[in-house]
Amino acid sequence: MDEVDCIVVGAGVVGLAIARALALAGREVVILEKAESFGTETSARNSEVIHAGIYYPQGSLMARFCVAGRKALYAYLGERGLPHKRCGKLIVATDADELERLAGIRTRAAANGVVDMELLSAAEAQTLEPALHCTGALLSPSTGIIDSHAFMLSLLGEAEAHGAMLACNTPVLGGRVTASGVEIETGGAEPMKLRCKLFINAAGLGAQALARRLEGFLAERIPGAWWAKGNYFTLAGRQPFARLIYPVPVPGGLGTHLTLDLAGQARFGPDVEWVEEIDYQVDPRRGDSFYAAIRRYWPDLPDGALQPAYSGVRPKIVPPGAPGQDFMIEGPRDHGVAGVVNLFGIESPGLTSSLAIAEHVAGMV
Ligand SMILES: Cc1cc2nc3c(=O)[nH]c(=O)nc-3n(C[C@H](O)[C@H](O)[C@H](O)COP(=O)(O)OP(=O)(O)OC[C@H]3O[C@@H](n4cnc5c(N)ncnc54)[C@H](O)[C@@H]3O)c2cc1C
Repeated sequence: MDEVDCIVVGAGVVGLAIARALALAGREVVILEKAESFGTETSARNSEVIHAGIYYPQGSLMARFCVAGRKALYAYLGERGLPHKRCGKLIVATDADELERLAGIRTRAAANGVVDMELLSAAEAQTLEPALHCTGALLSPSTGIIDSHAFMLSLLGEAEAHGAMLACNTPVLGGRVTASGVEIETGGAEPMKLRCKLFINAAGLGAQALARRLEGFLAERIPGAWWAKGNYFTLAGRQPFARLIYPVPVPGGLGTHLTLDLAGQARFGPDVEWVEEIDYQVDPRRGDSFYAAIRRYWPDLPDGALQPAYSGVRPKIVPPGAPGQDFMIEGPRDHGVAGVVNLFGIESPGLTSSLAIAEHVAGMV
């Protein structure tokens, strides 16, 4: 059986960021990825927004890692000249009730350390975005957008420059915890058996299933797995906005918001569709409900302008409607099993948080 120091399962943005951090710390790292390339799953199926850290409960891992990760991410992208834009975001109220809620959102953001948010009158918001209809807005200047693929390529390049190795087409089937390390078996065209001192499960949507296939790990430290698909619709034609536009959040979601890619193309979504199987096709009928929601803040949205685009799936650790979704990151000091770190429920803002998560995991081990 071959021996390596660290195995990271999953070459999404989180696995790559962890692999880079461990490689920079001088450790030998092998990344095992079941797909034929890195970053093809959730890390390629998201909004590519650098979140400020506004909505998450104070003290949650999401709040902590989003704020720290956002700062680290802007520095990382800036130092390397990687594509991104600090375009800002407006949270818009469209009636008197929503207007009252903006102040509460700003207070929650400040509790998380996001202290740069500005309350705007309708006229001030419309000066920034003339096509916008609103009764008032909150400006988040530190929200931005990123080219997630370019970011992942950079993480992988730096990890490899420090000796890490990526093996694609290599699904990890399972393994066991032994006194001399974690032993795993891989499938694919060239099945292998490997032993490592440190096993990092960053398998995203597959993280719970993988942890369950690790003999000697504790079933009670593996949360349930639920999947919430998010569908996107793109706008055919030109759009008038320079910033991301979000309605005041609705219970259970952020509302039908507008994000932009770095080419200025607008997309709306993601909505929330609980699924039991992963099928990334977008049902065009789901777009019907988007029109009324978008016209609350953009009355000029033309009929028939929305086209089904793509979808992503959120790895949830609590069932529909239940509170308490947060990142769950546990190492030996949490669960008592030497050499194992599991990352569960790394949904949004996981992309923004990736560098902070990586630093946290590297510090744990
Ligand atoms: C709809 C949506 C919108 C989002 N928008 C944003 C946003 O705007 N901003 C933001 O910060 N975050 C956003 N996120 C969250 C962000 O995309 C994720 O948190 C992040 O991409 C998770 O990265 P990951 O590496 O954990 O998972 P993944 O990217 O899913 O990577 C996991 C990898 O593990 C591999 N794998 C799984 N099982 C195995 C196995 N047994 N063996 C080998 N390999 C395996 C998979 O093939 C995959 O490549 C969004 C998420 C969704 C779903």
